[in-house]
Amino acid sequence: MSFKPRKRFGQNFLIDDSIIEKIMTAIDPKRTDSIIEIGPGLSALTAPLLDRVDCLIAIEIDKDLSRTLKNRHSSKKLMLIEKDVMDQDFSIFGNNIRIVGNLPYNISSPLLFHLMSVADIVRDQHFMLQKEVVDRMISKPSSKNYGRLSVMLQERYRIEKLFDVPSESFNPKPKVSSSMVRLIPLSDARNKPNDYLLFKKVVLEAFSKRRKTLRNSLKDLSKDIPWCKLKISPESRAEDISVEQFINLSDHFLKNTPIL
Ligand code: SAM
Repeated sequence: MSFKPRKRFGQNFLIDDSIIEKIMTAIDPKRTDSIIEIGPGLSALTAPLLDRVDCLIAIEIDKDLSRTLKNRHSSKKLMLIEKDVMDQDFSIFGNNIRIVGNLPYNISSPLLFHLMSVADIVRDQHFMLQKEVVDRMISKPSSKNYGRLSVMLQERYRIEKLFDVPSESFNPKPKVSSSMVRLIPLSDARNKPNDYLLFKKVVLEAFSKRRKTLRNSLKDLSKDIPWCKLKISPESRAEDISVEQFINLSDHFLKNTPIL
């Protein structure tokens, strides 16, 4: 490879054709799909995607890579946006969009949170991520990886871990293991919090003091929580509380705490 990978942009390029093929099978792109790729890099996923779709949008921060991408692919098929994906407003892309990418691992959690705000226009997302992050995303209550990321993402998406990817499939080899994951937004008809910002605050508060009992960690929000009615033990900890229970808790605060 003549290009020198930049660590600050999380550049670990996919070089394993069998994994690239597995990713294409998982995404199953159709000609007219509106697909947005985050971090096209050296085209490992971009080229096979362009073979399968009429038009592809890709967002790349690295100017040198963007130049190479422009020289390699026709601008009629590849619409390249040269910017930091964290500054990208995804709502301009219309409805029913599909987002894919072998993501830069250094920004994966903030990026997942950034994309949550446009979940209602997204059909699905397919991402390569650090395996440890995927394990946190799919974790269930009372397991060691269950945390704020699990609750916030599971409130919005059905999340499916697809397969693990060995570090030999990349150049340079990442120090961590990787996995492919699929996120499909849940329908608007789901049981969702009445006040999303309050729900976010309750989850944040509970997990920022995760070793404390809920009675202690949430006492600043309200001292008068009907634990029994909410079917939650005040002695439990954030890591034991399901998404459903967090929704019930935040809806209780909404009704019973005038100013937060
Ligand atoms: N898709 C290529 C592949 O699979 O080989 C490259 C994946 S590499 C793990 C991550 C890519 O995201 C790189 O091309 C990197 O330059 C780009 N990138 C990193 N940070 C970014 C950001 N904030 N916004 C947009 N692209 C970014």
